Amino acid sequence: MPRPLEGDAGPASAAAASGTVRGACPHDCPDTCALLVTVDAGRVTRVAGDPDHPTTHGALCTKVARYAERTYSSDRLLYPMRRIGPKGSGAFGSITWDAALSEIAERLTAIAARDPQRILPYSYAGTMGLVQGESMAARFFNRLGASHLDRTICSSAGKTGLMYTLGGSVGMDVERFTESRLIILWGTNSITSNLHFWTFAQQAKRLGGRLIAIDPYRTATAEKCHQHIALLPGTDAALALGLVSSLSRQGLLDHDYIRDHTVGFEALLERADRWTPARVAGVCGIDSAVVDALARDFGTLAPAAIRLNYGMQRVRGGANAARLIAGLPALVGAWRHPAGGMLLSSNGDFGIDWRALQRPDLAPALPQGCCRRIVNMSTIGDALLEADPPIEALVVYNSNPVAVAPQSSRVIEGFCRKDLFTVVLDHFRTDTADHADILLPATTQLEHLDIHASYGHRYWVMNQPAISPLGEALPNTEIFRRLARRMGFDDDCFRDSDLVLAAQAIDRQARTTPAALRGVPDEAADMDELRARSLLSPLLKQGWLKMDLPDAPFAQGGFPTPSGKVEFFSSRLAAAGEDPLPDYLPPHESVASNPELAARYPLAMISPPARNFLNSTFANVASLKAAEKDQQVHINPADAQQRRIADGDTVTVFNQRGSFMARAVVTDAARAGVVMVPGVWWHKHSPGGRNVNMVTHQRLTDLGRGPAFYDCLVEIEAR
Ligand code: SF4
Repeated sequence: MPRPLEGDAGPASAAAASGTVRGACPHDCPDTCALLVTVDAGRVTRVAGDPDHPTTHGALCTKVARYAERTYSSDRLLYPMRRIGPKGSGAFGSITWDAALSEIAERLTAIAARDPQRILPYSYAGTMGLVQGESMAARFFNRLGASHLDRTICSSAGKTGLMYTLGGSVGMDVERFTESRLIILWGTNSITSNLHFWTFAQQAKRLGGRLIAIDPYRTATAEKCHQHIALLPGTDAALALGLVSSLSRQGLLDHDYIRDHTVGFEALLERADRWTPARVAGVCGIDSAVVDALARDFGTLAPAAIRLNYGMQRVRGGANAARLIAGLPALVGAWRHPAGGMLLSSNGDFGIDWRALQRPDLAPALPQGCCRRIVNMSTIGDALLEADPPIEALVVYNSNPVAVAPQSSRVIEGFCRKDLFTVVLDHFRTDTADHADILLPATTQLEHLDIHASYGHRYWVMNQPAISPLGEALPNTEIFRRLARRMGFDDDCFRDSDLVLAAQAIDRQARTTPAALRGVPDEAADMDELRARSLLSPLLKQGWLKMDLPDAPFAQGGFPTPSGKVEFFSSRLAAAGEDPLPDYLPPHESVASNPELAARYPLAMISPPARNFLNSTFANVASLKAAEKDQQVHINPADAQQRRIADGDTVTVFNQRGSFMARAVVTDAARAGVVMVPGVWWHKHSPGGRNVNMVTHQRLTDLGRGPAFYDCLVEIEAR
């Protein structure tokens, strides 16, 4: 018997009137902190870290510690709105939910009658929650037959590199880094982007471990390591090849592990041996002695561990670099120890039932030989302006592409198309929201239910609503449920509640699923609230549960590759016509790879996250914006002097694609020839209304179709 739909007055709220509610941080951060939310008379008074959760250990970053300020901000979107001014003007008038949903359903239905693939969802990691992310929304767009979005904007090159080398996003348990004798922090400013890992690294340091940072910029994290290797952006693969060769020359290889648990080592070594320390030094812009010394540390300080992060893969050769770095621990047998190996992402270990959540089977059948169109989110600017057939409707949720997608001028031009119908779900009037035809108020993490996997630790974390939705805000799930009903989608799965979706997210037969959550799979159609609550009860009670994984999962090999081994040589890549061995691919834009361009724009620019922002999230919270001060460009004193730029000057950063203004911070933390712009400011909060993505480009990475944000040449002049 069909279950009743939730009423138009809003989803039944389980929010507490007073007390402490268990939650999860929803943001795009590996730490996925477990939260304790204090509620007093229906209002959140405190958001704190759960002291009992072994990786949160009671501490939150400054951003989320101020989550109540963000939630209760006077800028919150609380009612549906319709645009009343030109696109981008931010002029809106309130409308009812009924009017908003009717208009959206009418427009989407008319476009779908011509071709549903002219409709595109656009979403990413505004929430990492499995329920408010891609569950009901994915069902809706699958059922509609809309174009498929290739979600590449952050990590797809690195993930692809890992997939071809280790078999997936798998790696060390973050809690074991405390016992590592060497930790290489490769392309990660942990204090900003992975705070709780830094706590473990510091513990390792206290116990005598050595910390080495590899990063083009001397970050706060690099400052606190024993050594900092400031290589040029996009040259990590060259350094990794030099390490392979040096480990061999210095007799530091674990030949038994290589023989038993890897594929293609001889071919890799033949390639790597062309990378002498002198050649590596020339490409990476480092001292040649660094290569052998780093290899010696890596080969002698056991257990040795690498914490890799995604910054280094946002360049042309990002996936190849990730392949090479992911292969290094096997060379010294580091995987034999629980505290050895590497970690880029732990997400691949979670047993997530994506099919149950997203229901790809709902998609209408296409004529034989036809496939659903795939649109890459990293080239949304070009897609909006050039796709054939054109994108006629865009539904944006959990993302702010006008601020964060590369080459903003193209993105903005696309969003300003008069014939494009745009719907945006958000908490605030972002740069993207300013271009919406219809703007819908979404709930924050304090107002809805969700369940989280993590990409930095091994715990499932549950988020329960602490308060009722503010104003007329609704969870994403409920918005798509109502829209489905307006569109006449009567499939039973559109009636699933958020609790049922959370229960469906867990693959209860996966080998890593915590014992308390395991069981015989339920047919989704048979799952009701009561059953879902009972399945989730251990998680609802404690807030988090650890996956069931051995301490050193690859001590005896068993990697999830086709061969079960670390694949230096990938038959899958060979079959796809790609180079089966990893290599160094020079950046699209660098002094060495493109000297003609570098003659006009000689500075390599990277744009990692600002400490007080998370991508473009939090960039409108008054206290965090004040802490971040203004849009800055960090430049080496020699580069500044050459351009007559003094510390604090307002400068223009420009290239052939565009320009933006920033305040110069003259510092030797930036190496000569490299500038660093902390991001991502919203365009409308940046001087002149332009942020760093005015100069980035839409060219992609070697594998994984990712953006190459940190592969960008610019010039700077004082104003
Ligand atoms: S952003 Fe990261 S460190 Fe901050 S609370 Fe969320 S998960 Fe924790």
